[in-house]
Amino acid sequence: MIERPRGTRDLDPEEMEVRYKIEQKLRNISRSFGYREILTPTFEHTELFTKKSGPDIVNELYHFEDKGGRDIALRPEFTASVIRAYNEGMRELPKPLKLFYFGPSFRYERPQAGRYREFWQFGTELIGPDTTKADAENIALAYKCIKGIGLDEFTLKISNLKILDKFLEENDIDLEKKQDIYHKIDKEEIDEISEEYSLGSKLMEFLNMELEEMSSVLGDPEPVEYLKEVLDLLEYYGIEEKHLKVDIGTVRGLDYYKGVVFEVDAENLGAEKQILGGGDYNLGDVFGIDISSKGFAMGFDRSILALETEEKLPELDDLDCYIIPIGEEGYEYSYDILEELRSNNISADIDLMGRGVGKALGYADKNNFRYAILIGGNEVEDETVTIKNMHTGDQRTIDKNDFFKEVDEGWT
Ligand code: ATP
Ligand code: MG
Repeated sequence: MIERPRGTRDLDPEEMEVRYKIEQKLRNISRSFGYREILTPTFEHTELFTKKSGPDIVNELYHFEDKGGRDIALRPEFTASVIRAYNEGMRELPKPLKLFYFGPSFRYERPQAGRYREFWQFGTELIGPDTTKADAENIALAYKCIKGIGLDEFTLKISNLKILDKFLEENDIDLEKKQDIYHKIDKEEIDEISEEYSLGSKLMEFLNMELEEMSSVLGDPEPVEYLKEVLDLLEYYGIEEKHLKVDIGTVRGLDYYKGVVFEVDAENLGAEKQILGGGDYNLGDVFGIDISSKGFAMGFDRSILALETEEKLPELDDLDCYIIPIGEEGYEYSYDILEELRSNNISADIDLMGRGVGKALGYADKNNFRYAILIGGNEVEDETVTIKNMHTGDQRTIDKNDFFKEVDEGWT
């Protein structure tokens, strides 16, 4: 027997309906911020990702040589693709350019709960302005997306990487070492850094300081002031304070971030709790252009797991009508009704197996139809329909033309 590849999932109709509803919410929220959707290819030249994230990234990639001898990779994320697409065909579009995307990403990771080899990302890019207002807009949209799909138990941690940069500089640490240090902070290995760079308890103390104190320790108020300005702007967006946390130890694991960064944790999820990451980066180096971009990527699958643990998954819509012709003579008349319903966007199905009424009703019940429409000899003769409410069991027989009129006028 052939099974699905490791780290992948099959999604059944119920899961797909839930996902589709959440997807649509995210699209609507992003549109309400003036963002518009784009789509880039599922595969790119491997070089796009190694240029952006370094050669080690290939360990995480699904990549292969295609028949033309090109080294091709399935995308592990969208940011590099979006910036490539911008550079290739969207440079002339007016700024700020606000884009969002949704689709599967692929990483050769060790699968576990909340970590897959194929997973979905919803994300955004705000290209052009490098201002505190743009940072705030980016963070506010991330918040509204998380909140808007129904999550309530999460923390949005915000930092400005320039604060830590400054700290390292003041402590005479070569900024070449910065990546190593940031990776370790990301993995919460503070002790190791302190030892390796002879910092004693300095780094730990610094990370625990209030912003004001950091400012005075650094002797340069600029990076702290910048972050404070972003935080002040966020007050305009109606963000609940309980979700926000300034955390200078939030560094993102990647090399191209440069300014304000943020992450969202859904603590209920345990180990794989990070459901969103984003910030301010400059990918200009990769493409030889100088352009500011601020964005975020949300882990769609983990967000759904978080909704599940909060018991906040959206309700599924029932199907509407299941038509049960009783006997062969009911079919021609039934197809007329089926057509009328379907052309009015009412979901309608008809028994295709010539089942008896009992079994057909059982099928309608199991598939969550709201109504069964029974068509027997009497209905055909009198030009009526018998509608059975599957929730209450109530049944009524009405004139077919009255029924069509009801359908035309909009059925609830
Ligand atoms: P992690 O540290 O958990 O590996 P990451 O820093 O690699 O995450 P990003 O590259 O920032 O993650 O991707 C954005 C979001 O995508 C993450 O916050 C997470 O929710 C989700 N994500 C990343 N990798 C996976 C995966 N293998 N399976 C499911 N979701 C993932
Ligand atoms: Mg990862």
